[in-house]
Amino acid sequence: TDHFLARIAAHDNLGAFLAQDADVSRAQAKAADQRLANGERGPLLGIPLAHKDVFVTRDFPTTAGSKMLENYRSPFDATVVNRLGVDQGAGMVTLGKLNCDEFAMGSGNENSAYKPALNPWDHSRIPGGSSGGSAAAVAARLLPAATGTDTGGSIRQPASLCGITGIKPTYGRCSRYGMVAFASSLDQAGPMARSALDCALMLSAMAGPDLDRDSTSLDMPATDYAADLLVQSASGIGNNSLKGLRIGLPRQFFGAGCAPDVLAAVHAALAEYEKLGAKLVDIDLPLTELSIPVYYVIAPAEASSNLSRFDGVRYGHRAAQYSDLTEMYKKSRAEGFGNEAKRRIMIGAYVLSAGYYDAYYLKAQKIRRLIAQDFQSAFAKCDIIAGPVSPTVAWKLGEKSADPVANYLADIYTLSSSLAGLPGMSVPAGFGAHGMPVGLQLIGNYFKEAQLLGAAHQFQ
Ligand code: GLN
Repeated sequence: TDHFLARIAAHDNLGAFLAQDADVSRAQAKAADQRLANGERGPLLGIPLAHKDVFVTRDFPTTAGSKMLENYRSPFDATVVNRLGVDQGAGMVTLGKLNCDEFAMGSGNENSAYKPALNPWDHSRIPGGSSGGSAAAVAARLLPAATGTDTGGSIRQPASLCGITGIKPTYGRCSRYGMVAFASSLDQAGPMARSALDCALMLSAMAGPDLDRDSTSLDMPATDYAADLLVQSASGIGNNSLKGLRIGLPRQFFGAGCAPDVLAAVHAALAEYEKLGAKLVDIDLPLTELSIPVYYVIAPAEASSNLSRFDGVRYGHRAAQYSDLTEMYKKSRAEGFGNEAKRRIMIGAYVLSAGYYDAYYLKAQKIRRLIAQDFQSAFAKCDIIAGPVSPTVAWKLGEKSADPVANYLADIYTLSSSLAGLPGMSVPAGFGAHGMPVGLQLIGNYFKEAQLLGAAHQFQ
């Protein structure tokens, strides 16, 4: 804990943290020591981490990257925080809260109301988003691991752009209780760390049912993913052998939209997989392009509903001066939300409104179902799907900040699996233009986290 606290202090120019409290962290470390002294053992006991600032925490403030929640202190811990933590969980020591795009809306961490986070490989570039602080902190070795959330790519894309490993499990695998909601039918928590093995250790603690608190959490016990990786099996397709594993390459992920340097790194990684015994097969995900308009209808629709709770009465910022209730709502929300949150609230309210609901929201839901069906057809021909995570390496700060659509288009390879609720991960594949990291995306069928982690582990 002291080692990482010192590193964090030495590198606070990265903007990775939104909150820290060394006294709290040291007290948690003492509690972990006590558990060790009592004879308890566990792979995560006493290991430091920090949480993306959308997980509510009792011991640290939670802002979700928004002015709306400045100085907000939750009376309880999110389930994921609790399961990893030192009081009742795996014994990890929290070193603080990590920067992110406001309400997890963004792809570059530039929508944080507080400050941008910087890419440790090149401080003039974004770390990706929305879990940008998590990726930057782990990549710069300020932390061994962090939590993130992924609604449309926010674990995988920053992991890719910062050269670390991150997994978004199947929708519902981790409880959403205590995660500040963005788009509830898509939001999912996951670990971001240096290796698939570290992610496996964390996911084993994070996953599992929480039905009293999140009715969409899956009623499946957590798996010991790390044991799965470490077990030595003699032969056959398993988590620990790639022999005969069929890796599907969607034509739509390898087209002209992807930068040549990214494609080169991805192809080199796939050649390595072939050497390890995997078979590459061509597949089709014909609706890939539609995942952008579909996601950017559904996610804002859900966001407009979720963010209605920030009314200045029950939560968050309240304007200092107002003459009546309506003006209080209006001013509080005008002052508290940033531009991207406002844009999405307006889009969401529009696509849900009478007269437009059928044309936009309902149509998007129908295409969402077709996108999920495309994946099932693809999985008839392959075991896992691979491709790039992001069409380019990390871009320069400010390069896309004036153009929301340019940001949305960069989500092309992560949105479709999110809409389908499938697990996906990013594994460091190599380097592209400007010496920046490139991730390989692996997408599995429902509940196949162990298979994904196994495939990543063999490669690493
Ligand atoms: N970049 C996407 C968005 O802006 C995804 C964000 C996320 O996964 N939280 O919505």
